[in-house]
Amino acid sequence: MSPGPDADPIADRRLAAVVSRSRALTGVLARDGTPRYLSPAALELHTGLVDRDVEDLEFAVDRIHPDDFGVLAHSFATALEQPEHPVPVHYRIKFVDGTWRSIEGTLTNLLADPDIEGVVLDVKDVTEREKAESALRASEARHRRVLDSLAEGIILSGEGGRIIACNPAAEQMLGLPADDMLSRTTQELAWKLVRRDGTEIPNAERPADRTRATGEPVRDAVMGAADADGHVSRWLSANAVVVETNPDGTPDVVAVSLTDITDVVESSVEIEQNERRFRTLIARSSDIVAVIDPELRITYVSGAVGEILGYRETELLGVSAVELIHPDDLEDTFAAVARSIEGATEPDPLELRLRHADGSWLYLEALGVNLLDDPLVDGIAVNLRDISERRRIEANLHAAQVRFEEAFQHAPIGIAMLREDGHFFRVNPAFCRMLGYTADELLDYSFTDLTHPDDLDHNVALHERTYHGDLPSYVIEKRYRRKSGDWIWCRVHVTIVQDSEGAPHYSLGQIVDVTERRQFEERLAYEATHDALTDLPLRNLLIDHLDLALAGARRRASEVAILFIDLDHFKRVNDSFGHVAGDDVLVTAAGRLREAVREGDTAGRFGGDEFVIVCPDVADAAEAVAIAERVRASLDEPFSVRGTQMYVGASIGVVVAGGEGEADTMLKHADIAAYRAKERGRNRVELFDEHLRSAVAVRIETELAFRRALDEDELCLHYQPVVTTRGGEVVGFEALARWDRPGHGIVGPGEFLAVAEDTGLIVPMGMRFLRTACEQIVRFAAAAPDGSCPWVSVNLSASQLGQLDLVDEVASALAETGAPADRLCIEITESLLMQDTPTTIDTLQRLRALGVSLAIDDFGTGYSSLSYLRRLPVTVLKIDQSFVLELGLDPQGATIVASVIELAHALGMECVAEGVERAAHLETLARLGCDAMQGFLFSRAVPAEDATAMLGRRFLVTQLNHSGARSSR
Ligand code: C2E
Ligand code: CA
Ligand code: CA
Repeated sequence: MSPGPDADPIADRRLAAVVSRSRALTGVLARDGTPRYLSPAALELHTGLVDRDVEDLEFAVDRIHPDDFGVLAHSFATALEQPEHPVPVHYRIKFVDGTWRSIEGTLTNLLADPDIEGVVLDVKDVTEREKAESALRASEARHRRVLDSLAEGIILSGEGGRIIACNPAAEQMLGLPADDMLSRTTQELAWKLVRRDGTEIPNAERPADRTRATGEPVRDAVMGAADADGHVSRWLSANAVVVETNPDGTPDVVAVSLTDITDVVESSVEIEQNERRFRTLIARSSDIVAVIDPELRITYVSGAVGEILGYRETELLGVSAVELIHPDDLEDTFAAVARSIEGATEPDPLELRLRHADGSWLYLEALGVNLLDDPLVDGIAVNLRDISERRRIEANLHAAQVRFEEAFQHAPIGIAMLREDGHFFRVNPAFCRMLGYTADELLDYSFTDLTHPDDLDHNVALHERTYHGDLPSYVIEKRYRRKSGDWIWCRVHVTIVQDSEGAPHYSLGQIVDVTERRQFEERLAYEATHDALTDLPLRNLLIDHLDLALAGARRRASEVAILFIDLDHFKRVNDSFGHVAGDDVLVTAAGRLREAVREGDTAGRFGGDEFVIVCPDVADAAEAVAIAERVRASLDEPFSVRGTQMYVGASIGVVVAGGEGEADTMLKHADIAAYRAKERGRNRVELFDEHLRSAVAVRIETELAFRRALDEDELCLHYQPVVTTRGGEVVGFEALARWDRPGHGIVGPGEFLAVAEDTGLIVPMGMRFLRTACEQIVRFAAAAPDGSCPWVSVNLSASQLGQLDLVDEVASALAETGAPADRLCIEITESLLMQDTPTTIDTLQRLRALGVSLAIDDFGTGYSSLSYLRRLPVTVLKIDQSFVLELGLDPQGATIVASVIELAHALGMECVAEGVERAAHLETLARLGCDAMQGFLFSRAVPAEDATAMLGRRFLVTQLNHSGARSSR
C-alpha cells in the first residue's frame, strides 16, 4: 500500500484501479480529520455518494452517530499522538437509506510517511454481525428465562467439573444457592448422594462426573440428596449429557438435568407403583421443550427435538409449527393455542402428529403454558412428549381386539370365556350352535351344569388348578350336554388369561366337537375287544372285567366266580360238517351262554371252543356251581347243524375267589377244573376246590423238584426180572425208572412221568437211561455165571420216538458201551404204535436193523388191527397186566389171554405176561403156553446189584406150577 519513490507509475495506477473497485472500506485523512481520500465503498457508506472525487467531498460529520462522535474524536487524537500505531475505532453512521451502520476498524497515523502523509482509516461494516450478536444475546436471555422457568433443575459444568451455570430449580432441589455452586466442582459441594438402597454414590459415579469421564450420556439416574447425617431430603432423577466438546473431542460442558421425584419416592407405598411413576417421570424428562409465538412460529426448541424428531434446533427456529403438524391435527392445535392465549390455566394435553425429519409422522402429546406476558419468553412454552410408542401399542391393541372379535364371532370352533366360578360370560356363535343354546341361555350356566358326570371331577380339578396358578392351560376331552339332552364329545383347550397384575382373570376355552371321531374310536375299540363271530368280549376285555369284579369284591368283601367252559364235541362238528357249521355252533352256544347268565355277568370267548363267564357277585361256591349247571344244561340241548341234531355238551370248571383273587390264577385254575371235568367223563361241572388246589400245588412242587433231579443225578433204573414159564430161569430184565427223591424215598414213574413229559425232560432222561441200560447189559454179561447174558428192556416215551436222531442215539449207546445189540429190547406201548404210522414203522425198522429187539407193551389196551400188527418188525408182545390180573377170576379173561398168545405165536413173536402176582396166574399162563412172565410173584424191580444177584437163579416155577395147578383145581 505504500509504493516507494521508484514505484512503477503503471503499477501504481493499477493498484488505484483495484482499490477503486474493491468493496474495502478505507481512506486517508488529513491531520485535521478532513478526508483526503476514501475508497468508493467507504465513500458510499460515509456520504451516500458514489463516483465523486474526494477533493469535492465534505466529510459528512453529521452522519456520524452523535453518541459516537466524541469517542471517535478521542481515537483520532490518540492516533495523532502515537504515529504508526493502529488505534481501534467503533462508531455508527447513518446510511443513505436512513439505517444506522456499525463501523469498526483502526486509524493509523502515517503522517510521517512520505507516500501517505495522512491518517489511514481501515474499517469494516459490522452492522450485520452486531445485529446477530444482539439477537444471540436476546436468545441467550430467552434460554436463560426458559431455563429459569423449567421445573427441571439444570446444572452445567465445565472444565474440571466446575459448575458454570445452574438454574433456580437446581438451586432449590439441591438446597444450595447458585453463588455457592458456581465455579466449584460437584465434589467440593457438601452434598452426599445416595442410591435407592441407601448406599452413597461415589464421586466418580455421579452423573456429571460419569459423563465427563466417559463422554456417554447418563439417563434417569435416581439419586437422593442427603444431608451430612445421611437423611435424604429429596429424591432426584438425573440425566447427564455432553453439550460442548473440546477441540480434541473430550467433553467440555456437561449438562445435568434433575427432576424432583421426592413425592413419588416418598408417597408411593408399593415398589411397583414407584417404578411405574419413575418411568413416567423419566419419560417426561426427555420431552421436547419449545416456545412458539402466537402465530405458531417456533422461537425456541430444546435439544431433545433432535432425538425425537430428527431436526437440528437451528433448523426449526423461526419455522412455523404449522409446517410440522399433520393437516388433520391443525384444527385442534389452533383451538388449543387459542384457549391457551385466552389464558386457560390448566389446558388439557393435546395429542397431535408431527412430521419427523425422515418424513414419517410421530404422535406427540403437547402441553402448553402461556408465557406471552413474559417479555423474555414472549410465547407459549410447549412441552412435547413422544407418545408414538404408546399410540402404536394402543393401535396394536385395538387391532388385536378387532381381530379377536372377528375371530371370536366367525370362528368355526366354539370359544367360551369362563369366570372363576365356572360360569360362561361370553360365548361365540359356533359354541352356541354346538350346544343348541342361544348365547343368552348359555350365560345362565356354569360349565359344570353341562358337563357329563363322569367327566366332571377331572374337569373341575383342572379348572381349579388353573385358577391356583398351577397350570397355565389344559386340554380335556369331555362330554357336553346339548339342549336336546344328548351328549357330544368335545376337545376343549383352556387357557388362563391374566389381568395386568398377573392374577388369573378369566379362562378362555376353545371347543371342538369330536363326537364323530370318538364314535369311530369307540367302534374300533369295540371291534378290537369283541369277537367278530359271536360278538362276545374277547380275552383281554374279559380279564379287564374280571379285574374290575375283583376290585369290587375287595370293596364289598364279596366273591367273584368264573366259569371256564370247554365244548366237548366241537371238534367233531368241525371235522364232519366243516368250519361254517362249526361257526354256527359257536354262535348258538354264545347265544345260550348270554341267556343262561344273570345280569351283570359277562360271557366272553376265550379262544377256539372255550368260553369264560365272569360272575362279579356270588354268595358262595354253591351258587357258582348252580349257575355253571344251568349253563351246562343249556349246552347239553341238541344243536341243529345242517338240519341234523347234534349233541355238543360242555365241561365246565368253576373257580370262586374273594377280593384277594388274581385274574391270571383264577383263569388257570378254572382251566384246570374244566380239564378235570373232561377227565371225569365230560359234560359235567367241576369246582376248583381244596383238593384240586393241593393237587396243583403238589404238581408244581414236583415239577420244581424234578427239574433238579436230573442235574443232581437222583434218577436211576431198577430192574424187574423176566423168567421163563417153563423153567423159571431169569432170561431178562425190564428197566424201570426210579427217582430217589430227597424226603420222599424211592418214587415210581407214576409220580413224575407226567411232569417229565410236560417239562420235556423226558427226552434227555430217556436217552440217559438207554445208555445206563446198555452199561448194565455189559455188567450183567460179566457177572453171569454160565456166560449166558440176560437181555434188558427199556421203555420208550412218545417224545423219544419222535426224536429224529433216536436210531443214531441207540446205535452210539450200543457202540460206546460195547453192549451186544441183541441183548437190548425196546418197549413201545400199543397205543403209541397206533399213532403216526409211516415214520413210526420206518423208525422201528431201522432200530430192528441194528439188531435190537422190539416189544409191544401193554398189549390189549389199544385197538391194533391184525393187519397192522403184521407189518410191525416186533419180536415180543407183552400182555397188559390188566388181563393177567383177571385170570383165575373170570373165565372170559383166560379166553382173551389165550387168543393173544395164539396171535403172538402166529405172528412169530414171543409172549411175555406182566403183572403176575399169584400162582393162579402163573398156572393159567403156563397152560396157555405163554413164553415168559414178570410180576411181584417173582420180584419187584430192584437195584442193579440185587438184580445181578438173581443171575443164574431159578425161580421155583415147577413147584409153583405144581402148587398153582393144585390150588386151581
Ligand atoms: P410198564 O411198562 O407196564 O411197566 C410195568 C409196571 O408194572 C411197572 O410199574 C412195574 O413195577 C409194575 N409191575 C410189575 N409187576 C407187577 C405186579 O405183579 N403187579 C402190579 N400191580 N404191577 C406190577 P412202574 O415201575 O410203576 O412203571 C409204570 C409205568 O411207567 C411203566 O409201565 C412204563 O410205562 C412207565 N415207565 C417206567 N419206567 C419208564 C422209563 O424208563 N421210561 C418210560 N418212558 N416209561 C417208563
Ligand atoms: Ca414196559
Ligand atoms: Ca406194560
